[in-house]
Amino acid sequence: MNECIFCEIVSGHLASEIVAEGDQWIGFRDANPTAPSHVLVVPRRHVRSLDELTESDADLAIGLLLGCREVAAREGLGPGYRVVANVGEEGGQAVDHLHFHVLGGRRLGWPPG
Ligand code: AMP
Repeated sequence: MNECIFCEIVSGHLASEIVAEGDQWIGFRDANPTAPSHVLVVPRRHVRSLDELTESDADLAIGLLLGCREVAAREGLGPGYRVVANVGEEGGQAVDHLHFHVLGGRRLGWPPG
C-alpha cells in the first residue's frame, strides 16, 4: 500500500469521484467539502508541494491550472470560484501531494483564515 493517499486515488486503489482528468492530472471531489463544489486537482506524478515544482515542470504546471479551469467549467462555476494551493505546515497543507482546491457554488469570503 502506497503511503500517499492521493497517489492511491490516482492509481485507483482508493475510491474517489473523479470530475475531470487529463494526461498529467486528475480532479476529484474533496472528501470533506467546504463549499457546494469542492474539487482537488492533483498531478498524477507524486510531487510533494508547489515548492517542489521547477522550471522543468512548466508543462505540468500549465496543465494543472487548465485542469482547474476545466473543473470549474464542468461544475458550472461561471459566477466565480477560487483556486487555492496550501503549501507547507503553516500554509495549512495536510496532504503532502501537490493539489489545487477548486471551490465554488457559494459566495466566498476573503481573506481566508
Ligand atoms: P490540504 O489541507 O490543502 O492539504 O487539503 C487536503 C484535502 O484533502 C482536505 O480538504 C481533505 O478533505 C482532502 N482529503 C483527504 N483525504 C481525502 C480523500 N481520501 N479523498 C478526497 N479528499 C480527501
